[in-house]
Amino acid sequence: MSDSLDAFATDKLAGLDAAALRRRLVPTARGPAASAERGGRSLVSFSCNDYLGLSHDPRVIAAAAEALARYGAGAGASQLVTGHSPPLAALEARLARHKGKDAALVFGSGYLANLGITPALVGPGDLILIDELGHSCLFAGARMSGAQIRTFPHNRIEQLRADLRDDRGAARRALILTERIFSMDGDRAPLPEILEIAEAYDAWTLVDDAHGLGVVAPGARAPLEMGTLSKTLGSYGGYLCASRPVIDLLTSRARSLVYTTGLPPASAAAALAALDIVETEPALAARPLALARRFTARLGLPPAQSPVVPVLVGAAEAALTLSKALEERGFLVVAIRPPTVAPGTARLRVAFSAAHAEAQVDALADALTESMPR
Ligand SMILES: *Cc1c(COP(=O)(O)O)cnc(C)c1O
Repeated sequence: MSDSLDAFATDKLAGLDAAALRRRLVPTARGPAASAERGGRSLVSFSCNDYLGLSHDPRVIAAAAEALARYGAGAGASQLVTGHSPPLAALEARLARHKGKDAALVFGSGYLANLGITPALVGPGDLILIDELGHSCLFAGARMSGAQIRTFPHNRIEQLRADLRDDRGAARRALILTERIFSMDGDRAPLPEILEIAEAYDAWTLVDDAHGLGVVAPGARAPLEMGTLSKTLGSYGGYLCASRPVIDLLTSRARSLVYTTGLPPASAAAALAALDIVETEPALAARPLALARRFTARLGLPPAQSPVVPVLVGAAEAALTLSKALEERGFLVVAIRPPTVAPGTARLRVAFSAAHAEAQVDALADALTESMPR
């Protein structure tokens, strides 16, 4: 009997439709140079996190193809069984070196990394302090851990300090969760200050570097540096870089690593080739932020802090309308709506890539100026 099941789904969808919050999958064929085809139309994408265009770099593709031919399409088992392939081992060593850490561990995705890391480090009787704009998977890992969760207002370190002063004494361990570059706002966390507070209260800090790796100056490093292979590195997978004992503990205790199949060798090889490019081509790595600043200057917005620039619209429906208008002019800029962002803060999230031409950036800025609701 599935009548009640379908009725439930239909009813829920009607609510989402009424609030302009329903989401749909749109087949999109991504190509080189930030191009994307949708519904027979060729668009310039400003919605991909492929900040250096490396997902289509011939060197990255060749590395993946070679690993694919040599090691096969899949990892065959968990990393702890037979899934720790040579490209994966090489990638972990390179990631650790890149982050200045002893060791690294690769997960199936960034989302899986955060589901595994936090519950392996803290639990009931412990305290988690998390920035309110933290990614969904940071919150999911925090909830799974069973620790007490305190959410602090975005980047408000006085509140973080006060929470630690009030609650740290009663907790065995404390863990701070934040992001280097916030995914939907493109701004930065005040990491030197956060790390100083963490030190004072013997709290551990995890920084989610999904949007920072390779495209902004790294700055202060946290004891726990996690991120993804799926954005600047143009591949798929997640990682944690940390000290040797922490990585060894997680290898035994992170459930989203132990009980899932290892990353396909080709994905690891692609990420490794991409990391090579990030490290050897600083001019390429500097380009997305420079383009983002060109865009914010042209629109009279505060200077971009990262390759991600939010254009705030407000109502979900208005954000959809604006996105549609841009699509008609040849630009793919997907609307971001609640619950990904807070109610009333629907936006276009513009992501810049080294693959964009200056003229494309200027054309988008002008199209936005002409299409914005006033
Ligand atoms: C994209 C993202 C993740 C998830 O990474 P995936 O590899 O895509 O699962 C985690 N944290 C932040 C901040 C992200 O933006």
